[in-house]
Amino acid sequence: MNIDQSKIPQATAKRLPLYYRFLKNLHSSGKQRVSSAELSDAVKVDSATIRRDFSYFGALGKKGYGYNVNYLLSFFRKTLDQDEVTNVILIGVGNLGTAFLHYNFTKNNNTQIIAAFDVDEQKIGTEIGEVPVFHLDELEERFPADTPVAILTVPAPAAQSISDRLIECGVKGILNFTPARLSVPDTIRIHHIDLAVELQSLVYFLKHYPNE
Ligand code: ATP
Repeated sequence: MNIDQSKIPQATAKRLPLYYRFLKNLHSSGKQRVSSAELSDAVKVDSATIRRDFSYFGALGKKGYGYNVNYLLSFFRKTLDQDEVTNVILIGVGNLGTAFLHYNFTKNNNTQIIAAFDVDEQKIGTEIGEVPVFHLDELEERFPADTPVAILTVPAPAAQSISDRLIECGVKGILNFTPARLSVPDTIRIHHIDLAVELQSLVYFLKHYPNE
């Protein structure tokens, strides 16, 4: 199973965690194989796309058999580095940030928020969901070693300068929940999730493209 991961298209790579989660559930219910149609139904990705995605992983489904669940799981585990826990920090312990601190990410994937930062004196020095909250002024000195990922849940005007500091600290990827568009070097990955925009877009689609 020697697969050149740089050959996997980004759109395919983005679907990996989705596939992985579903296959883990299948595996724990004792299933050994799965068809692309079953997968398609569960993860809501059309089966042609699934077949193409899986061909990148060297998983060629057999007609009448489907895919071998164990093979796929071990591939995903390796590719997603699920054997190791990835450290994450969170900046901005407001409503959304607090919800993330309480949410147990390790249940579904091996990431763990290990520290949080804010500027609100009421929050500093507390622990939320067992995660300590530090002052943002101490970011550089408290930055935990080996932490490639940061979640940004601060007000938009603070986002750019905090991102610059995070990158200086060694962060490689930022999950940006603020509406701010961040400018970062090409080597840094930003995934932008604007919940208000997503919600608005859902409402728009419901209005203009209603399902029959
Ligand atoms: P949310 O948007 O998550 O629902 P909220 O409405 O509770 O949060 P916001 O004003 O959006 O509050 O702020 C989110 C959090 O970011 C708050 O805990 C706030 O103290 C913190 N915050 C504000 N400015 C900064 C900053 N410059 N650096 C770090 N944290 C900040």
